[in-house]
Amino acid sequence: DYDLAEVDPEVHSLIGKEKQRQFKSLELIASENFTSRAVMEAVGSCLTNKYSEGLPGKRYYGGNEYIDELETLCQQRALSAYHLDGKKWGVNVQPLSGSPANFAVYTALLSPHDRIMGLDLPHGGHLSHGFMTLKRRVSATSKYFESMPYRLDESTGLIDYEMLEKTAILFRPKLMIVGASAYPRDFDYPRVRKIADAVGAFLMMDMAHISGLVAASVVANPFEYCDVVTTTTHKSLRGPRGGMIFFKKDTVLGVDLESSINNAVFPGLQGGPHNHTIGGLAVCLKHAQSPEFKAYQNQVVSNCKALASRLIELGYELVSGGSDNHLVLVDLRPLGMDGARAEKILDMASITLNKNSVPGDKSAQIPGGIRIGTPAMTTRKFTEKEFIAIADFIHEGIQIALEAKKSTKGSKLQDFINSIGSPDFYLNDRISD
Ligand code: PLP
Repeated sequence: DYDLAEVDPEVHSLIGKEKQRQFKSLELIASENFTSRAVMEAVGSCLTNKYSEGLPGKRYYGGNEYIDELETLCQQRALSAYHLDGKKWGVNVQPLSGSPANFAVYTALLSPHDRIMGLDLPHGGHLSHGFMTLKRRVSATSKYFESMPYRLDESTGLIDYEMLEKTAILFRPKLMIVGASAYPRDFDYPRVRKIADAVGAFLMMDMAHISGLVAASVVANPFEYCDVVTTTTHKSLRGPRGGMIFFKKDTVLGVDLESSINNAVFPGLQGGPHNHTIGGLAVCLKHAQSPEFKAYQNQVVSNCKALASRLIELGYELVSGGSDNHLVLVDLRPLGMDGARAEKILDMASITLNKNSVPGDKSAQIPGGIRIGTPAMTTRKFTEKEFIAIADFIHEGIQIALEAKKSTKGSKLQDFINSIGSPDFYLNDRISD
């Protein structure tokens, strides 16, 4: 047994550099966080060595007595972290990440070419909710299922539930998907439930971004209205990279959710679960039930409100005018700035956030906004005061970008700024998270 520095100095050095980068920058990517050392210890443990296809007590490999205990513990913690009654709800903790979790649900509930409706990606939805462009079916979800997106009302920045209802009545989806990657407001679950019932659709919530906020009950509870709830585990929940699927222990629209979803994960889509991730997730879900975690999530939301207010004071336009959760979306177009240039300039000052499309964007290639999230820096104990300072730093960066844009043609800085966001940027980079 040698340590990494001795065995592989190259990888050791790159990990060291990445660690430095993470700790010296202001990490404001809404889908990222800093997980705990305890979680990382579990993820970096001997659990990675074990094969355990199947579920606890029903494995295709021997030697799983401790893995069975671990996965059962993880399931129990997942249910109690979300205040769920184990007689009514079950959970599968094996999905390798958020996109595979979603795809497993689709294959469990739908047949190929069944119809789905999710929030359109340029309006804040995720790739795995059925994204396609006019020219191309981008996500496997849109290749294997027929996708009709719903969108925001561009004048308010809020989900256009009226249009959603009208479209659902015409399109008659078999599955409706709530949840987003870049939506600063809470969701109207009762309203979408009503629409789903009217058209005979399953209702799924992908709470990936807000799963920590849901566990701490600082936003509305999707479990009261949805048949299935999916999530990643590494965003606001602050666990290892992974995914979970919660399902009602019920037959819905003729489908037994428990067996269909479990079978869709394995053997349908995946092989052996990543036991090291399940170990880390169990640790994270223990944290998620502590008073400190609840205080943390409250702080995430308060920090976001402070950030939003300060940006508004500085004259910025926020999509939907503010935030109910952990992120804000800033529309830079009124300033004559775009998200790609802003992201690059701020990156040079170690402020890490991402360019993001905003409703009404003409070019998806150079989006008009930036997305700013509070979970990671709140883990690093930032409070409202520091987030007000962050708003001021972002403002300073954007002012520099604007001045450079106006400065003498041919200046190095201007050339650099103008070179950012060339049209071969694919849609927008946020589609990856
Ligand atoms: N669902 C939502 C709402 C997301 O924002 C993301 C990623 O950011 C995912 C699913 C996909 O997760 P993963 O990148 O782990 O596949």
